[in-house]
Amino acid sequence: MTNDSAPTLNPPHPGIVDPGHFAAGDRVVFGHDSVSHTADTQTSIVVSGVATDTGCIALRGAHVAGGDVYQTSIGNVLHATGCDACDQCAAARQRADTYEYQEQRSLFNDNGLARADALRENGLAVLSSAGRGCGHGDTYTLAADAPVPQWMHTALAGVVFSAPEGPWPNWGRTDAPIDWPALIAAHPDGLDVDPGVTDDLHGASWTSIVEAFALARSTDPQAALDVCLWVDTDSTVLVEPAYLHHCVEDVGRIWHLNN
Ligand SMILES: [Zn+2]
Repeated sequence: MTNDSAPTLNPPHPGIVDPGHFAAGDRVVFGHDSVSHTADTQTSIVVSGVATDTGCIALRGAHVAGGDVYQTSIGNVLHATGCDACDQCAAARQRADTYEYQEQRSLFNDNGLARADALRENGLAVLSSAGRGCGHGDTYTLAADAPVPQWMHTALAGVVFSAPEGPWPNWGRTDAPIDWPALIAAHPDGLDVDPGVTDDLHGASWTSIVEAFALARSTDPQAALDVCLWVDTDSTVLVEPAYLHHCVEDVGRIWHLNN
């Protein structure tokens, strides 16, 4: 496949074309699932239309009567049923995602594919659900049979994860106080820092992040890196740090690592 055959990666979203597209009472779904996921447990109800200052709309889960109202970017949701514009947007997004997914998979060897698929599908076991259509607030733990080495099971025992927000092969996220720099140093054959970290963090190197983490740990033994976990093409588990949580004199601070 060449780039010439790449489908449109950013199809127009009906709510961005027309901010009045969604109205209170409309039944919506997240992401690409406007066609397939129309069960009540997957849908949310629009509580109020888009706010012009934030671009967000307010929702609550359709299956939680009177449940929490929460905000999401209008581009995240589509009408559950009966809207041609949303159906067409979902189909275009699905084509673009399928293309990118196939391109990505073609880079992986057999071991990498096997581990990435297994961790993405069954790597995490549900601890609790917040009942939101988007999955935010749900918690997980490493599945007992997750295909990672025993030392990783030991290091991640009892650790609480949130669901992956990125595409395959992102398989989990955690801000538990794990000493990732030490764990990577101890197991360089099975764990590594995401090589794209410097690009994504606008230049912050892994070396500088390790130094910042050590400094934070010197005053707060529970200082923690908030990391997303991925799988590399050869099956190595990759760590993508995004934030540093640090608490001094009861004042918690969260540092985005690209600052
Ligand atoms: Zn629509």
